Amino acid sequence: MANEFEIQLEQGKKEFGRMRHLELPRQPLGFFPTPLHELANLGKVLGGPRIFIKRDDQTGLAFGGNKTRKLEYIIGAALAEGADTLITAGAIQSNHCRQTAAAAASLQLPCHLVLGGAAPEIANGNLLLNQLLGAQIHWAGDNRKGEDIPQLAQKLRSEGRKPYIVPYGGSNELGATSFVEALCELDNQTIAMQIEFDHIVFASSSGGTHAGLTVGKKLLKKYYQLTGIAIDKVGTADKPFIQQVVELANSTARFLDAEHQFTADELHLNKNYTGAGYGEIGEAEKEAIRLTAQYEGIMLDPVYTGRAMAGLIDLIRKCVFKKGEFVLFWHTGGAPALFEYAKHLQTM
Ligand SMILES: *Cc1c(COP(=O)(O)O)cnc(C)c1O
Repeated sequence: MANEFEIQLEQGKKEFGRMRHLELPRQPLGFFPTPLHELANLGKVLGGPRIFIKRDDQTGLAFGGNKTRKLEYIIGAALAEGADTLITAGAIQSNHCRQTAAAAASLQLPCHLVLGGAAPEIANGNLLLNQLLGAQIHWAGDNRKGEDIPQLAQKLRSEGRKPYIVPYGGSNELGATSFVEALCELDNQTIAMQIEFDHIVFASSSGGTHAGLTVGKKLLKKYYQLTGIAIDKVGTADKPFIQQVVELANSTARFLDAEHQFTADELHLNKNYTGAGYGEIGEAEKEAIRLTAQYEGIMLDPVYTGRAMAGLIDLIRKCVFKKGEFVLFWHTGGAPALFEYAKHLQTM
């Protein structure tokens, strides 16, 4: 017999099921649902709550990651428009660019990546993968946020192509919608396992994951606290990052015909773990990567998940996450970047 919780959840899902996302074109790119399992050794050694992990590092698209979910809707839209070329931008070790390049390869579409900085002597990590995946790389120097894209798109159009610009980090309403749906996926799994989470912790950087989970939580009427661990000291736009997430949550809710207006105080973004800034690995990230590897055999990454797990560990040590609670760590991928950080991580 269904308990009250299950009835509520079914209502939430029905609501979501009436929404627009089901009519959206969607290009299958990954393997879903991604696994959900407990990190029993890590839970034991930290001596706090039970810790579980959602394995979006296992989406199957060229080493996986959270961008696979977003790209299913974004590339679905691109193909529906008749696009024949993909363009996106990111940092030199962008996981988003690598997953876009892999998706493009699987669909046999040309892919142009506008990367910040200049070509290094040796391509490693995600950059190496981008080359192997056949992406065309454009070095943008200080134009790190895709400022050069309009010009590139214009050039491609003049050559007769139909380019589609994949937004930075895949963070628009389509990308966020994939994380509304990811929460439905999670709920099916937690019902089967007969568990309920008190906290969900994840890395937050371009905001699509955070915004989507926020809308999903509201629609499914859930009570867990979502804790985004901020990765960057500053937002990607010229406004506070939290404001960016609130705006995306609101536009995503509108996009799905959901009636809710979010405010910044409903969202929880923890900015205590940004260390020396984006991509700068510190002792906390190194410890989180080692603990997760050595107690669970699972690889985190130096930029996003290592930082988010470092936050989770610290929040356990500070007894913010308590014994008896259930905490979910959403693994958003990124491990290919580990190799670029060998100098910082090697023990010899
Ligand atoms: C992009 C990314 C994130 C952040 O997700 P957003 O939706 O951009 O906030 C987290 N972890 C990894 C590994 C990523 O590549």
